[in-house]
Amino acid sequence: MTFKELGLFPQILKALESCGYKSPTPIQEKAIPQVLAGKDVMGLAQTGTGKTAAFVLPLLQRLAQGPRGRVRVLVIAPTRELAEQTHEAFGTLGRHIDFRSAAVYGGVGIGPQIQKLRKGVEVVVACPGRLLDHIARGTVDLRGVETLVLDEADRMFDMGFLPDIRKIMKSLPARRQTLLFSATMPADIMKLAQEILKDPVTVQIDHEAPAETISHALYPVEHHFKTTLLMELLSRTETESVLVFTRTKHRAKKLAEQLEMAGHKATSLQGNLSQNKRQAALEGFRRGSFKILVATDIAARGIDISRISHVINYDMPDSSDAYTHRIGRTGRACRTGEAYTLVTPEDAAMVAAIDRLLGRKTERCALQGLEYTVPEIGRVSTASGRAPSRGYAAGRVRRSGNRQPQLRRRAQPRG
Ligand code: AMP
Repeated sequence: MTFKELGLFPQILKALESCGYKSPTPIQEKAIPQVLAGKDVMGLAQTGTGKTAAFVLPLLQRLAQGPRGRVRVLVIAPTRELAEQTHEAFGTLGRHIDFRSAAVYGGVGIGPQIQKLRKGVEVVVACPGRLLDHIARGTVDLRGVETLVLDEADRMFDMGFLPDIRKIMKSLPARRQTLLFSATMPADIMKLAQEILKDPVTVQIDHEAPAETISHALYPVEHHFKTTLLMELLSRTETESVLVFTRTKHRAKKLAEQLEMAGHKATSLQGNLSQNKRQAALEGFRRGSFKILVATDIAARGIDISRISHVINYDMPDSSDAYTHRIGRTGRACRTGEAYTLVTPEDAAMVAAIDRLLGRKTERCALQGLEYTVPEIGRVSTASGRAPSRGYAAGRVRRSGNRQPQLRRRAQPRG
C-alpha cells in the first residue's frame, strides 16, 4: 500500500516525500481511509506507531478544501510536548497547504496565543487546562469545529483531565467527527468513547506489544550497584541517543549529574524544570548536543525523537503498559532499538509481567568482567554488555569492540 493509493492529495504526497516517509505504517493504512470517509474512529495505538500522521494526514486533506478563518480541527493532547509535536506535524506535513495552526498550552504566556487565535487559525492543538482558560475568556471560538481528536486519551485520564474534557465538549458542536486515540482501553476511556463517539470504527494494530524492531534485555542488579552498571553498559555499548528512565524527579536530576561528571553529555527532564529549561533540554537532546536524557515517566510523555537507539530503565516501570510506553521511544517507525532494564529482586513481579507482555522469557544478562553480585531473578546468561540480538536488523545499532573487558570494579555507593 502506498500513500498515493490511500487517495491523498498531491501536495500532501509531496510533503511526505520530503519527510522521507516511503509507505504508510499499519495504523495509517487502517485509519486514513476511515478518517477521510468522515467516520468516527477509535484508534488503539501507542506512541511510535505513526499514529500522529494517521490523523494529521487525512485532516490536512480536509483542510485543503473548505472555509478558512475558523477553528475546524481541534486536537486535545495531555502534555505540552505532545501538543507542540502534533502542531509541528501539521506544519511539516501540511507545508504545501494553506492553513494556520496554533499550539495552546500552559506554562507560557497566554498573550501570544490570544493574538494568534484572534488572527484566525483552522487548527488548534491544545492541552485541556489552557484551552478551558481560553474558552472562559472567550478568546477561542470552537463552534465551527468539524473534527475533534483526543490524543493519548488514557494518559489524559491518568493525569486527571477527563472532567476538563467533558467541559470542553460543551463548547463543541454536537455534529462533528470525533477521533479518539489511546494506547490502552481502560473502563473509563471505554465509557468516554461510548459517550462521545458515534458509530465508531475501531482501528488497532498488534495490541500493546512493543514494536518487533526492538530487542529487550534485563540486567539483574542490587539496587546500590545500578549506577555503576549503567555507566559500564554505556561505556561498552555504541549508541545514538539514549533515554534513561528513573522513578523519581530527584533521581533523574542526580543521575544526569553523575553521568555528566563521568564525562557523558547528559541532561535531565523532570517536572521541576521551567518551560524554557525543558525545551532547551529537549532541543539539545534532539540535536544531539546531549546524548543521554534522564527522565521520569511524566516528563517523558510525548517525546518524539526518532534517533533514540536505546531506552534504559534505570528503575523498573510500574506496569507493563508503562514499559511499552517507555520502550515506544526507541525503534520508532522502522528504526531499530534496544531496551535495557535494570532489575532488582523487588522487581520480580514486573519481570514476570514483561515476560508475559513480550510472550517469551526476556533474556537476563550480566556484565562479564565487572565484579558484582548478580541477584537471582530467573535465569541469568553472562554477556559482555550484550543484549540479545534477536529482533533487530543488522547494522543499525552496533556495539563497541569491548566484548571481553578485564574490568574489576568495586561496588560504588548507592546511586
Ligand atoms: P508517532 O507514533 O506519531 O509518535 O510517530 C512515530 C515516529 O514515526 C515519528 O518520528 C514520525 O515522524 C515517524 N513516522 C510516522 N509515520 C511514518 C511513516 N509512514 N514512515 C516513516 N516514519 C514515520
